[in-house]
Amino acid sequence: MGSSTASRIRCDIDFDRDGRQAAYLHAPLSRDTSGWGVVQIPIIVLKNGRGPSVLLTGGVHGDEYEGPIALSRLAATLRAEEISGRVIIMPAVNVPAVLADKRLSPVDGRDLNRCFPGDPRGTFSQMLAHFMDSVVLPHADVSVDLHTAGHSCDSALSTNMHYVADEAVRRRTMETAAAFGAPFNVVFWGVDEGATFTSSVERRGIVSIGTELGGWGRVNIEGVRIGERGVRNVLKQWGVIEGAPDTRQRDGSAGTRHMMVKGAKGYCFAPRGGLFEPLHRTGERVSAGELAGYVHFVEDVDNPPLELRYGASGLIWMAAGPGRVQRGDCVAVVMTDYDEAEAARA
Ligand SMILES: [Zn+2]
Repeated sequence: MGSSTASRIRCDIDFDRDGRQAAYLHAPLSRDTSGWGVVQIPIIVLKNGRGPSVLLTGGVHGDEYEGPIALSRLAATLRAEEISGRVIIMPAVNVPAVLADKRLSPVDGRDLNRCFPGDPRGTFSQMLAHFMDSVVLPHADVSVDLHTAGHSCDSALSTNMHYVADEAVRRRTMETAAAFGAPFNVVFWGVDEGATFTSSVERRGIVSIGTELGGWGRVNIEGVRIGERGVRNVLKQWGVIEGAPDTRQRDGSAGTRHMMVKGAKGYCFAPRGGLFEPLHRTGERVSAGELAGYVHFVEDVDNPPLELRYGASGLIWMAAGPGRVQRGDCVAVVMTDYDEAEAARA
């Protein structure tokens, strides 16, 4: 690797060594208090003999808590002797954003999850994205990236995946998502997806699932439970730890319900800024044309609220909280039951 493409982030982990290694990546960040300062990013690697390699990440966005909690607990309790293969755990990938409790990096103002595949000579987020893509990903067979909807939305507890063109990879991805065992798995085509971590993972032919385990800027109790169970379920499914995945649902059903969001109709955007009053919670059934909520202009007299309507029928995947929205903000996402034939239609 030439110096122009080498990462500037120091990594003392030997990914091929058996046993447990808990360390920090050292990412250079010059600042007022220290010109030679670094940001320390926690990484825990367990390896035992041969077997699949599973990458578990949380804290790519700093205001999403269930993943970091679930992964910190897993990192503290999983022992190298009980695994076959390798588990790479990064509970707080975007440490500056995690410590600042923000979606975007307080260092460079960027969304790490829109910086892939990154640039070793770029800004802090671009440098970190490049490290994840070029140094970490080559060691993974499957990636589980734990997210929530952050401050802006709440989410129905779910895994998610792109509709991957390769049928074998798509099937393996769906099996992995089903094994995770969230109430829903959402197949989607995404908005502005080329620069996301998931896209980077897929470009390398690695199985990629994400999660949405809550949101609204608080810790979702059930989201933590589903997240903790889910990462262990994936390790079981891939044969890294013993046992069968437990995918039983609170409503008595045996497993995950597969859903999809296809096309622009599923997304509801605010056409103007104002105070948004939603009418439905995550998981609720809605119909195309039904009232989704109102944008109020409480600073005006005699200015009636704007009515927003759904473009698709289905269940609410993402729901904005009651609060101020800007023009162009996504305030609701509607998911429909997964249909293989409809999904395959370009
Ligand atoms: Zn996120």
